[in-house]
Amino acid sequence: MAKLADKADIYGKVQEIGRLFYLSSIELFGVVFDIKPAMAEANTGVYDASTPDRLKRLGELCSDLGLKMAFSRRKYIINSPRGIFQEIGLDDPREGNLIIGIAKDQKVALSAVAHYHWKMLHSRYGRSFGKLMGYPDCCLDFGDYLNNNDGNQDNFGFRNPAVESLKRSKKIAWQLNVFVLSLIPHFPCSLDCRPSRKYVDDILGALRDTAPGFVFEAEDKLKNCAALYWSCADRILLRGSFKNNDFLDAEIDYHQPEIQMVSDTFYQQNDDSYLKELREIREKIGKGNRLLMTPEYFEISNDGKSLLKEKKNHPYVPVLIKSSPVKESRHKNGPK
Ligand SMILES: [Zn+2]
Repeated sequence: MAKLADKADIYGKVQEIGRLFYLSSIELFGVVFDIKPAMAEANTGVYDASTPDRLKRLGELCSDLGLKMAFSRRKYIINSPRGIFQEIGLDDPREGNLIIGIAKDQKVALSAVAHYHWKMLHSRYGRSFGKLMGYPDCCLDFGDYLNNNDGNQDNFGFRNPAVESLKRSKKIAWQLNVFVLSLIPHFPCSLDCRPSRKYVDDILGALRDTAPGFVFEAEDKLKNCAALYWSCADRILLRGSFKNNDFLDAEIDYHQPEIQMVSDTFYQQNDDSYLKELREIREKIGKGNRLLMTPEYFEISNDGKSLLKEKKNHPYVPVLIKSSPVKESRHKNGPK
């Protein structure tokens, strides 16, 4: 990394790595700036004739950035987070992805690839994988809970970890409003988890002078948008005047809806009636200016006229969530 003239050069190279194998540039920054020790990913794009050349380029970029990389010698059929994961040979005609690991140390990069593979086949390796990735201990404990080994019906587990984090939260720190935008690679044990907040602060701090536009936009969204949220694949961001009593009862007079619904392409299997319902909600949100959320139902309206009232099957799906207000400095405000 010392060879690089400036942070802009680092930024360009990290983004190129991200594009080559769909790796998270945010997480890569974490490794480059020693905020986390390693990263590993299996959603790296289908292995094809172009992969060897792309791996060569990845090796060059990593070397420029002072990083070491490792990759699996087998392909993996994945459909995360629905848990389809199968190991096949490189010459198998079925489509599969490589697991790629990146760290400052070669042994750690190799270990990252091995642990990724093990944790997908046996949930008991999830914790050692997380440890290797530098996840906080409190969140590793939460990961054990998400494994849901005792089959608790009320535990969404890895299908909807954001809701499980929410259930354990008294407030939502803007840094950890994963309903709007996730900047952390692990699932936080609560949405106010101190080491997770620090991780996001460190990442944004490292990026502030390199990618000021990204940092400004991320902070603005995390602090000012509310999310109508089903899962990480389906959400609508809303700006406006927000009120809530607790996390299950909320309302917003909104404008500027930003639709982020991708489950039809994100997953290989879908429920047609769910997709149809989402399309209808998306259309009504576009025509409305107010959303009311309760544990039993939610309602979209326009200037007091109801456009859609939808019964919920579960109090937490969907939810309407905004980060807790940021406290003003004590120097500015006297006691209330
Ligand atoms: Zn934690």
